[in-house]
Amino acid sequence: ATMPPLLSAIANAGRHGVLVKSAVVMERLGQTDVVAFDKTGTLTEGTPRLTAVEALPDASFEEAELLRLAASAERPSEHPLGRAVVAAARDRDLTLGPVAEFASLPGRGVTATVGGRRIEVAGPHALSGDAATIVAELEAGGRTAVIVTVDGAPAGVLALADRLRPGAAATTAALTTLTGAGPVLLTGDNRAAAENLARQIAITDVRPGLLPDAKVAAVRELESAGHRVLVVGDGVNDAPALAAAHTGIAMGRAGADLTLHTADAVIVRDELAAIPAVIALSRRAKRVVA
Ligand code: ADP
Ligand code: MG
Repeated sequence: ATMPPLLSAIANAGRHGVLVKSAVVMERLGQTDVVAFDKTGTLTEGTPRLTAVEALPDASFEEAELLRLAASAERPSEHPLGRAVVAAARDRDLTLGPVAEFASLPGRGVTATVGGRRIEVAGPHALSGDAATIVAELEAGGRTAVIVTVDGAPAGVLALADRLRPGAAATTAALTTLTGAGPVLLTGDNRAAAENLARQIAITDVRPGLLPDAKVAAVRELESAGHRVLVVGDGVNDAPALAAAHTGIAMGRAGADLTLHTADAVIVRDELAAIPAVIALSRRAKRVVA
């Protein structure tokens, strides 16, 4: 028996490690003319490492204590940055404190109470003095800087670095050829870290500092300019953008966490090369139909 072309395209996509939800989605993937990537955990491996702990002089915390408080607050976090902070504390044999009132703020960070202290670990915002200087230096070096705030006062800065996924440059090149337009980078991270990464994979349209709603707004803007946008993301913070776009593919952690509820397709083996492959499969199926 012969399968309808879009259904055999779905079966083929499965062989590339992409689960596509329906024939409608399979067809839409071939219409993509701009691919918008999330950064952390999507274009990067999503397993950042802690590269520095800088205690602010005024706050008078030892670096180890600062890291212990931050890691305790991050312990329930599912975010790659949170996991990196916890892993770094474990590597240094620090004993994590009891956590209460944990809350995660997508695209921003976490807050929790650790041994009666109010701890926030979050991206830099409204900084001045030493903290602003340290953050600017780290970001200029392509690092992601997060601020540890204790009882409402900034106490230190943590620096993190992530690695590009293998095949990222080949994938962006293939997508530029296939869709005729370069991919777009939508990230919650800082401009310097985002541009540092974008340069390595020839992405020129970089939109940093975006909270989840701003990622949605960026997708809507591209679509109202007539584009059909495929969003590729890995995190809960990408769910609204995945849902808003013409099509959305989840990968990495999200492949497991978000599954097909919020995304139209899921990449199960974390290979970026699967993205141009499914677009090409969709177009081929379309040609068979026509
Ligand atoms: P991306 O869009 O690149 O995947 P996110 O939207 O997940 O990044 O995060 C954006 C920024 O929010 C991070 O660069 C960091 O500053 C901050 N952030 C998010 N989650 C955490 C966390 N658990 N701990 C510290 N900072 C966080
Ligand atoms: Mg992400």
